[in-house]
Amino acid sequence: MSDEQSPHSGPAPRPGSQSALRRRNEQLITATLREQGSLSQAELARSTGLSTATISNIVKAMAAQGLAETHPTTSSGRRALAVSLLETPEVAAGIDFGRSHVRIILASPGFKVLAERQANLAVGHLAAESIAVAAAMLNELLAESGIERSHVVGAGVGVPGPIDHSTGTVIRGAILPEWVGVNIVAQLEDALGMPVFADNDANLGALAQVTWGEHRSVKDLVFLKIGSGIGAGLILNGAPYYGHTGITGEIGHATIFDQGLVCRCGNRGCLETVASTAIMVELLSRGEPVQLTVPDIIARAQSGDSATLRVIDDAGMAVGRAVANVANLINPEIVVVGGPLAPLGETLLAPIRRGLVRHAVPAIGEGTTVVMSSLGDRAEALGGISLALSRSRHWNH
Ligand SMILES: [Zn+2]
Repeated sequence: MSDEQSPHSGPAPRPGSQSALRRRNEQLITATLREQGSLSQAELARSTGLSTATISNIVKAMAAQGLAETHPTTSSGRRALAVSLLETPEVAAGIDFGRSHVRIILASPGFKVLAERQANLAVGHLAAESIAVAAAMLNELLAESGIERSHVVGAGVGVPGPIDHSTGTVIRGAILPEWVGVNIVAQLEDALGMPVFADNDANLGALAQVTWGEHRSVKDLVFLKIGSGIGAGLILNGAPYYGHTGITGEIGHATIFDQGLVCRCGNRGCLETVASTAIMVELLSRGEPVQLTVPDIIARAQSGDSATLRVIDDAGMAVGRAVANVANLINPEIVVVGGPLAPLGETLLAPIRRGLVRHAVPAIGEGTTVVMSSLGDRAEALGGISLALSRSRHWNH
């Protein structure tokens, strides 16, 4: 069954497949037109780096779907075709579930944010409770912004853990153990009354970088989410990479020490046991009257506390070493770091780069750019919108 027939959690398109590339290119064209207004096809080709033949094909398909319109114009004295986006009443939702929060963003197919809201969830929340919170929040957002539910083409949903793409079920290894075995797609579709497309949060973070972020022209990108767990989302050859069963980017379980701490995955010495925010909190809270929080760690680092800086340096070097192994295999153009430690900036990026350069093949270590995500903690929900727009379009039409 192709994913056109199975919109919900059906097999994701293969990277490099015609449909995956086409969707990505369509999003690139949409985002460019959203930013720069009406452009000729030649200007679109220059801005996006796509061939004029590709532009022409995709623009034709978008015009047929009522998403764009073309009109004759002249450019440098020659006849040309100008392309502009048509506003449609359609809306997509992005929903990001974290260990202690849920965030919802609504946006148009032209990548314009229409409404957003975040709520806190108790740590250890059950899936059913959080789904009810999300459903109530979505109702409020739709009512407040005057958007009809029938205009919402779907919701792209991120969860902090692997999802079996053949069933839509959260599988073991999730940061939310209470959610393991839950068919998140079916339950959310019941609660929200719309098509739901679920993915791992790091995959959505990666997708956001190449659809909403400043890395739209990047074909090979690794998004690294460092939080209470560590996960990576991969964009390969211009499309999200889902592997055989959809469980990819488990860089948090790259082995760093043979005889390290026991990890929640059952192995020892995984990257998560030396570089997650959970282990940083544990290490730095020793001897403290109350357990530190991630904002405490950021504040101490910024005030130059030497123990905090040492812990961050060690964590960054370990992350860099794990990234070096990934980079040696896939040679990404850029590694984007996201998650709650983003305010640390260079304090965290510098040791990651050192670890990468030390452990990667020299040409790769020196040729890979490592930056912080500019999308902050909205990346996952924004990526959810991109997922919903690309998947729903192919089964609505
Ligand atoms: Zn592990």
